[in-house]
Amino acid sequence: MIGPTNTAEATAAHEGSHVADREELVSVLTPAMSTDDWLNSKENITQYATEFRAYMVGAAVAQGRRESTYNADGYEYWNSGWKEAERDIRVRAGISTLLEKKYHVASDKPGPRIIEKKK
Ligand SMILES: [Zn+2]
Repeated sequence: MIGPTNTAEATAAHEGSHVADREELVSVLTPAMSTDDWLNSKENITQYATEFRAYMVGAAVAQGRRESTYNADGYEYWNSGWKEAERDIRVRAGISTLLEKKYHVASDKPGPRIIEKKK
């Protein structure tokens, strides 16, 4: 999911990234695998991982469109004024903050995986 502050193109790119993550997972699952194999597959990534990727795609779209700034719910993850040398680190820092505030996930509390065992 993404906030209402971005363009339709960024939203489509963001959601497309999630679709790609799910397709990648599905592509490696086979009927011969056990449920635990499915759950433990490295393609069964966390909410943190899939959202991080999706916002990185969004930042790339922003850069490609030469947008001055992008944010979700006020958390900026792209600004064309960021110097090229520090751009990647600032994009990643912005996304980390946004994921923490908006989704309550972080590298040390990455949230649910794409598929989870029912509790
Ligand atoms: Zn999302």
